[in-house]
Amino acid sequence: MALNDDLGRARRLGLSGYVSYRRMRLANRLLRIINLVGPERYQCPCCGWRGTRFLDHVRETYRMKAAVCPRCRSHSRHRGLALYLADSISQNGSRFRVLHFAPERSLRKFFAARPALRYLGVDLGPRAADACADITAIPFRSASFDLVIASHVIEHVGDDRAALAELGRVTAPGGRALIMAPMLSRWRETETREFGYPHPDYEGHWRIYGHDLAARIEAAGMRCTTLTFAALIDPERRRRFGIIDDALFVGQPG
Ligand SMILES: [Zn+2]
Repeated sequence: MALNDDLGRARRLGLSGYVSYRRMRLANRLLRIINLVGPERYQCPCCGWRGTRFLDHVRETYRMKAAVCPRCRSHSRHRGLALYLADSISQNGSRFRVLHFAPERSLRKFFAARPALRYLGVDLGPRAADACADITAIPFRSASFDLVIASHVIEHVGDDRAALAELGRVTAPGGRALIMAPMLSRWRETETREFGYPHPDYEGHWRIYGHDLAARIEAAGMRCTTLTFAALIDPERRRRFGIIDDALFVGQPG
């Protein structure tokens, strides 16, 4: 079976692509050993891991150096969000209600370490979630949550405006909806590129967002603040926690 997988992969990637893929997979195995004995240069704010280097993200379609936490599999965007959350929810009491769409394992660990919060992870199916919910028809009363998180979710939704309206509806006055999505490389100067269908070459995404995501959030009835990790997190912390710059859209009802 493994041999068949490898033959199929070599056919898809071509010889040089396949060799590079195997080399990065092997390097990750060595890194796991180095991380056991090497100096602690990096740290994961989601799970507390410390080590010499993050692992490479190695997929057939996409590869990135020093991207993945060896323990909780967090990526830069999860670690940046965890730092933002740690700074912004620590002062809140035990009645703080959190709704997390498509809950990533690494961020669930972050919330599991804060049991006083009233946390609910939801997804279309029950796998890896506490309950089922469609983001375009959220099965909860209006203004039920103090914090709503939808990171890398709305690009999978055909009608993202309906999803944003629902995020605004369930967020309580004074609360926040945190929205992240894959962005165009020059997103500050560029409008969203709509495909009109779930594009197979872009992991089934309906679009890649530009700066006008903020306007879409405002059209859904929220005030929107566009933040970036580069502005929120100082360079030394970004280096230590392995965080590259990314956009974070904060919607607030009213
Ligand atoms: Zn981690």
